[in-house]
Formats: sequence, structure tokens, C-alpha cells
Amino acid sequence: MSQEQKSPDLERLRSRVDEINQQLLELLSQRAELAKAIGEVKKAQGVNRFDPVRERDMLDQLVADNPGPFDNDTIRHLFKQIFKASLDLQQKDHKKALLVSRKRHPEDTVVHVGEIPVGHDTKTIVAGPCSVESEDQVRQVAQALRKQGISLLRGGAFKPRTSPYDFQGMGIEGLQILRRVADEFDLKVISEIVNPADMEMAEQYVDVIQIGARNMQNFELLKAAGAASRPVFLKRGMSATVEEFLFAAEYIVSRGNSQVMLCERGIRTYEKWTRNTLDISAVPILKQESHLPVFVDITHSTGRRDIQLPVARAALAAGADGIMLEVHPDPSVALSDANQQIDIPRFHTFMEEIRQTGLVAPAPV
Ligand code: PEP
Ligand code: MN
Repeated sequence: MSQEQKSPDLERLRSRVDEINQQLLELLSQRAELAKAIGEVKKAQGVNRFDPVRERDMLDQLVADNPGPFDNDTIRHLFKQIFKASLDLQQKDHKKALLVSRKRHPEDTVVHVGEIPVGHDTKTIVAGPCSVESEDQVRQVAQALRKQGISLLRGGAFKPRTSPYDFQGMGIEGLQILRRVADEFDLKVISEIVNPADMEMAEQYVDVIQIGARNMQNFELLKAAGAASRPVFLKRGMSATVEEFLFAAEYIVSRGNSQVMLCERGIRTYEKWTRNTLDISAVPILKQESHLPVFVDITHSTGRRDIQLPVARAALAAGADGIMLEVHPDPSVALSDANQQIDIPRFHTFMEEIRQTGLVAPAPV
């Protein structure tokens, strides 16, 4: 080792390598700046950033000029890495510019559901039955919400069911029930819409349009929600990555509707003891990456009643702006999700307990 260090030849060669490293670094950086400028020109022209024909021409030219000692495959591989790094650089710039990203909009977005603010410094509870089944059923739940000072009443009228033989929801009649009961108790309605063509009709009855997990990548529906004049409650697809989730929100915001709430509702994993696996880390990641309010659906993520309180606590502790849960006057006879909805006495207990965190506003007196 000490002999090596003393060799003047080795020293000279090494310092030459250092010099070349510096030159390469400089050239790579210059090349990256040029690639970025090209990306800007392409963006302005609306042209795709990746150009495989141009890449092929550059690789062919480099191989033709290859003086050795690297073989042609190595040259191709090395330059392909450089091309890819330049493209990634442009894509990162593009990500920086997402309308839903905090980089673009550092302050928390406050969604206005009528006069009710959602997000930033308030914690919001959304509750109601899985499906609207009757006016009396919705009224019983609405009364419980009012008693707890909760303003957002959920209920499914168009139900995206796994089996075509299961209850599909009451459709427009369900929305009409929700509207009537909500008006009676001064509540806001949130309900899922599954068909882009129903968006205009839905605006007559709902205050918030829900897009469910199964439709998170129904791009025509997202575009229609982007054109709607109601806030959107967007649920994460059961196999969607956080990035895909944010792109789905971007579809809505880029079409002109900035009033979007995100909802983590559990993702599908091998685990069977919960219906889905709540991805709790998605909450701080979404809060970090995006300025939109973030909710956690404690009902569909767990699929069980016994752990809803600790899961709700975890969600709020992780920074969620709100919780969604399903409440039914008599869950055992519910037409959907009978195993996971909680009854009204249990809902009152849940509310009392979650308020003990000090994070949820006290009940009205
Ligand atoms: C729902 O909230 O009514 C629902 C169907 O949930 P998800 O879309 O998350 O499955
Ligand atoms: Mn449900």
C-alpha cells in the first residue's frame, strides 16, 4: 500500500483520472441543462419528452464512433443511463409542477362544503350508512349526527358492488332521501357517483361528490368531477400507489375543480384479519406531498368494529384532517357492509372517546 502511494506513475495516472472525472461531471451537468431546455421546448410544443427515434440515432452514432476499449454494448448501456437520467430530471420537474403538490401550493387547501370548512386546522367527521335503504333509516342516523355536531352525512345511493346480485343502491331516489333528511337536520350530503353522465343530476342533491376506490382511475369520471361545481371526496384505489392516487386528484384539479379531499381507505394485501390494510404511512406522505385535506376511512380499511377507535386515533395522530365511518341503526340487517357498520349507541360512545384525544371539537351542548 505504502509502496503504491510512493509510485510516481500511479500518482500521475490517478490525478489524470481525477481531472477527467471533473471534466465528465462538468460535461454531464451541461448536458443535463441542455436536456432540461429541450424538455421546456417540447412542453411548449405539446410534444412527448421521450423520443425513441432520436435516442436510437444517438446510440447508433456513438457506437459507430466508439474508439474502444469499451465494447459497443457497454457504450450503449452507459449512454442509455445518461439518457434516462436526463428524462428523469425532466419528469421530476414535471412532478414539481403538479397542481395538487405542496411544492406548487405550500399552504393547506381548505375545502368549503357550503359554509363548512374542511382541512387545515379543523378535524372533520364524515358519518352515515353504507347505503341509503329508507328515509327512516337515514333520519335516525342524521339525528345522531346532529346530536354530535357533525355536519357531513354520507350514504351510498349508487353502490359499486363486487357481485352483480348484491343490492345496487336506491339510485336517484336514494339521493332524494339524503337531500330531504339533510335539509331537515341542516346537514351536508356526501354520496358516491359512478357515472360521468350523472354528475349534473347529482349536483341537485349532493354537497360533495364521492369517487369510490373502484373508480379512482375511471378517468372520464375524474374529468367530469373536475368540471363539477361541488367538492370531491376521492378515495384511494385498493391497489393504487400514492403517486397514482395523486395523479387521480390531479385529473380533477387540472379540470378546474380545486376542492378535492383525499381519503385513504386501506389497500389490498395478503392480510385477512382486516378487510383491507390501512396504509397509515400514506397519511403523512399525502400531507407532505399535497396541500389537499386527507381523510381516513376507518370502516372500509378495517372491515371490523372492534378496532375502529385505535385506528381513528392513529389516523388523527398521523395528521389526518378527518375520519369517515359507517353508522347504521341496525347493522345486522344492513343491505351492504353489515359486518362493519356501527350502531347508533356505539357511534355516540365512539365520538365521546375520540373527543378525548382533544383533537376533535367538543360536542355541542
Ligand atoms: C363507500 O365509502 O361507500 C365505499 C364503497 O368505499 P370504497 O369505495 O372505499 O370501497
Ligand atoms: Mn360500505
